Amino acid sequence: MITKHKTANVSFESLLRIFTVPEGPDSTLTKIEEKLSQNLNQFLREHIVAEEKPLKEIEKDFAFASIPEKPEFVSDHTQHLLDTLVSHSVHTSAPSFIGHMTSALPYFLMPLSKIMIALNQNLVKIETSKAFTPLERQVLGMLHRLVYNQDDHFYSNWMHSAQHSLGAFCSGGTIANITALWVARNNALKAQGKFQGVEKEGLYSAMKHYGYQGLAVLVSERGHYSLKKSADILGLGQQGLVAVKTDANNRICPQALSQKIVELKKNNIKPFAVVGVAGTTETGSIDPLCQIAEICIEHDCHFHVDAAWGGATLMSNNYRQLLKGIEQADSVTIDAHKQLYIPMGAGMVLFKHPDAMKSIEHHAQYILRMGSKDLGSHTLEGSRSGMAMLVYAAMHIISRPGYELLIDASIEKAKFFAELISQQDDFELVSEPELCLLTYRYIPAKVRKALEIALPEQRIQLNELVNELTQFIQKCQRETGKSFVSRTRLNPSRWDRLNTLVFRVVLANPLTSHDILRSVLEEQRIIAQQAPNLMAKILATSQSITEA
Ligand SMILES: *Cc1c(COP(=O)(O)O)cnc(C)c1O
Repeated sequence: MITKHKTANVSFESLLRIFTVPEGPDSTLTKIEEKLSQNLNQFLREHIVAEEKPLKEIEKDFAFASIPEKPEFVSDHTQHLLDTLVSHSVHTSAPSFIGHMTSALPYFLMPLSKIMIALNQNLVKIETSKAFTPLERQVLGMLHRLVYNQDDHFYSNWMHSAQHSLGAFCSGGTIANITALWVARNNALKAQGKFQGVEKEGLYSAMKHYGYQGLAVLVSERGHYSLKKSADILGLGQQGLVAVKTDANNRICPQALSQKIVELKKNNIKPFAVVGVAGTTETGSIDPLCQIAEICIEHDCHFHVDAAWGGATLMSNNYRQLLKGIEQADSVTIDAHKQLYIPMGAGMVLFKHPDAMKSIEHHAQYILRMGSKDLGSHTLEGSRSGMAMLVYAAMHIISRPGYELLIDASIEKAKFFAELISQQDDFELVSEPELCLLTYRYIPAKVRKALEIALPEQRIQLNELVNELTQFIQKCQRETGKSFVSRTRLNPSRWDRLNTLVFRVVLANPLTSHDILRSVLEEQRIIAQQAPNLMAKILATSQSITEA
């Protein structure tokens, strides 16, 4: 900890130095940089402390709300960051950290991101980005082709056209989804006769002009919460996002979707978009995209596919058919910071038709002039970093077949883990992996038997106790810090759609081994025995059910 180190003096000359002079060879910062570039994992393992420090305690290190009056030396402050921040951050790249979509990064992105930050390009306009603008357009073109596979002619016509746009690069899936629905809404309420379009006149006039009583977007009940945010800011209200029933495999029921659309129309509510999910956040399930596409054509709805997480599967020729129908979507969200292994802040939305984004085009006097190729005229965000450079680099360095290997390995690892869970008589696989995401829970064989034969009342009661145990195990495992799985709440049809807490596992880190997966189960089994009262209660309840 540094508390009473000497402080630097503020002078304009000393400030100029921070823009020009790098640290000397012996400085803490330089040493850290060296270590980081040699072996990132070693660095993280050395500096992130394993034992849990409660957040309340950590908050004490970040308690003062005033901006410091005294400057600090860079090296001193770096030490301070190591002690208070780095040491209590989360080791997301650990191979046993298998609970979330955030995981390890390829090493070459560290030095490349330094170039990106050093250049400090602003992609909102060509005047502050120059070559970065065509690079970003090319990256969008590459991913557009991955989804829609148009011919060379298409891309040479539209990729760099000032009047067109194959999509938008943005900070993540949330902004990508908002952008897609923004475009869909504006196209559904476009200018007509004297009406100048919703983007000019606003929702109230648009509704009066078209005679609608409301607007709606439909998605399965497993849709991502970012869609609710979208509905809110686009003026539909959160209730404008209509949840559609899913089947036993967590996929949207096409029949229920059609019914809901008809119902909405009957009530004079315009369902202007349907969102199909290709890889749900909780279970990794893929909606029947071809069937949704048909329904969208029948009812004249914009078809958006949220493939924020699952879209990278298209890189694999062995598994891309799982996303069949995605090429019929009007728009697609893909996050590069998930299964494309790019650091956070890299999302994309792609549009099938190069002129779809015209409905959200914005111009300003000093930039984004009419006819300019400034990317900012088609993005929700303003100033944006040169993040596309990292995607571009990864596409070249890893290449499509490289990504195929990574994707295939993850999917096959999930299959292995699912098989392993099924072989245990004290674990239950709750959702099968379609991609590399699965859910399961710890439930001794006797308890499962009892749950099967229990009367509805008993079943609810016993299931609640098992939920308590699941929560206990997950928390305890996280706090011990050896490994990490996340948890979520599902309503499996196998258990009468009862609220069921489950462990959720995302197997994206290529360094996660079969042995690590075995030890995760072993650890959970041991933790379960550390709640003797709860276990006793569960076993007693089960026994009374079985004996009755
Ligand atoms: C992660 C995710 C999002 C949100 O993306 P962010 O990058 O977190 O904004 C949206 N939809 C799905 C299916 C996701 O997995």
